[in-house]
Amino acid sequence: MMQQHLLTLLYLIASVTFIIGLKMLSHPASARKGNQVAALGMTLAIFGTIFLYEDAGMGIQNKGFIFVALAVGTVVGWMIAKKVKMTAMPEMVSLFNGMGGACAMLIALIEFNHLNHVAQQNPGTTFSESVPGGFYLAIVAGLIIGSVSFAGSIIAYLKLSGKQKDISFKGQHILNIAFLVLVVAGAVWCYNAGVQQAAMYFYGTLVISLLYGVFFVLPIGGADMPVVISLLNSFTGVAAATGGFMYDNKVMLTGGILVGAAGTLLTMLMCKAMNRSLLNVVIGSFGGNTTNGSAASGGAQHYKEISLSDTAMVMNYANKVMIVPGYGLAVAQAQHTCHELENLLIAKGVEVKYAIHPVAGRMPGHMNVLLAEADVPYDKLLEMEQANDEFKTCDVVLILGANDVVNPAAKTDPASPIYGMPILEVELAKTVIVNKRSMKPGYAGIENELFFQPKTSMLFGDAKKVLQELCNEVKQS
Ligand code: NDP
Repeated sequence: MMQQHLLTLLYLIASVTFIIGLKMLSHPASARKGNQVAALGMTLAIFGTIFLYEDAGMGIQNKGFIFVALAVGTVVGWMIAKKVKMTAMPEMVSLFNGMGGACAMLIALIEFNHLNHVAQQNPGTTFSESVPGGFYLAIVAGLIIGSVSFAGSIIAYLKLSGKQKDISFKGQHILNIAFLVLVVAGAVWCYNAGVQQAAMYFYGTLVISLLYGVFFVLPIGGADMPVVISLLNSFTGVAAATGGFMYDNKVMLTGGILVGAAGTLLTMLMCKAMNRSLLNVVIGSFGGNTTNGSAASGGAQHYKEISLSDTAMVMNYANKVMIVPGYGLAVAQAQHTCHELENLLIAKGVEVKYAIHPVAGRMPGHMNVLLAEADVPYDKLLEMEQANDEFKTCDVVLILGANDVVNPAAKTDPASPIYGMPILEVELAKTVIVNKRSMKPGYAGIENELFFQPKTSMLFGDAKKVLQELCNEVKQS
């Protein structure tokens, strides 16, 4: 009894650490600590369960297996997380999220088999007569949400790592809706079926849920991927919460609900940032990695180039410079050199700020994390709305490896796949300098009109190399 009270107390402490950790994650300055606080809570909950959990006087069995699994999981997770490049972070998040979904799916399968075993003792009855309805609901919800999240996350992982292309075909929405209807019908049929047939419907529901996860994510690409990752993340949270219901485990319930709620809120914020409706996401209907609208040719129109020395001079004489970081800055790992340039300019009396688009890079918050790594002060980072208010007061905007997030087609070309997505309105500044390696398009695969505008100059080259040379030029001037 005493043990049970201690465990409840540990669960309470763990739940509080999740909430504090989540709160701390909302600011780059405290995010790292927040992660550690929540991880500590999770460790307490896991070890508390292993050593203190009791049911009918029996503690947890098979501790040996549990510790081997814990050790393998910890080593593999640790190694992957240590090795992963900043640019491959979204893939890793997707993969880890898929593992969470798979866990919920496996728990549901195991618990169904227990129920089914009991039901088989009463042949000639229906499954619903032998099993408690609430418990079945938690199992089947865990199965459906967990398997959709698992299959969808694996497809998202394959797509983000370039191993799987977007696939879309006519009638895809109807197929997705049909899958959803079949999944719900399968769950109901299973409950009402005779005990002999219930398993068939249950496993059928599993297969259709997995198929739905695959077909739901397959067509999605381009500018819409972050929304899907965050949505799948919230699915995994809800699936984990169903496990909490099944086992009457408060910490699993709290953790799952927090992940589900945070993921849902992030999904809604991302939808707003990309101007997409959530319904479009759920039926897998939004734009893929198409090249509708303007083609990614880059050759037909005229653009002008600027030299390193001219760039250094223009920035030296500016009162205010706004830096727009993008995916290319992360690829080049040029954040430290960028911070060095910022300091050199400040020393020359130039005001320097950064404009951060919510989906710049390849994951939510990518640029914030990257710049925090280089110790760029947080108060220099402006969110999109603030930055758009300030561009008109800037003499120079220096775009470093960003493309889609500054593409005016989002405002002007209804045929463009990114039409409607809010963008950084860099063209309001006096001069725009774009650093990238070529005229190739960005993630959405579309041409960028900005590069051909009269106030824009292209500064070609790898971001790190260009920034290093710019630093030298500024030092000498
Ligand atoms: P983009 O992918 O639009 O553009 C990046 C640009 O960086 C490319 O055009 C590339 O041009 C350039 N680049 C690549 N390597 C280097 C380098 N070493 N040095 C200099 N430049 C380089 O990036 P944005 O950040 O503007 O936009 C992000 C895009 O990714 C959006 O479409 C967004 O929706 C999508 N996305 C965002 C996610 C998120 O959560 N943030 C997740 C998944 C997708 P070149 O090859 O000519 O050098």
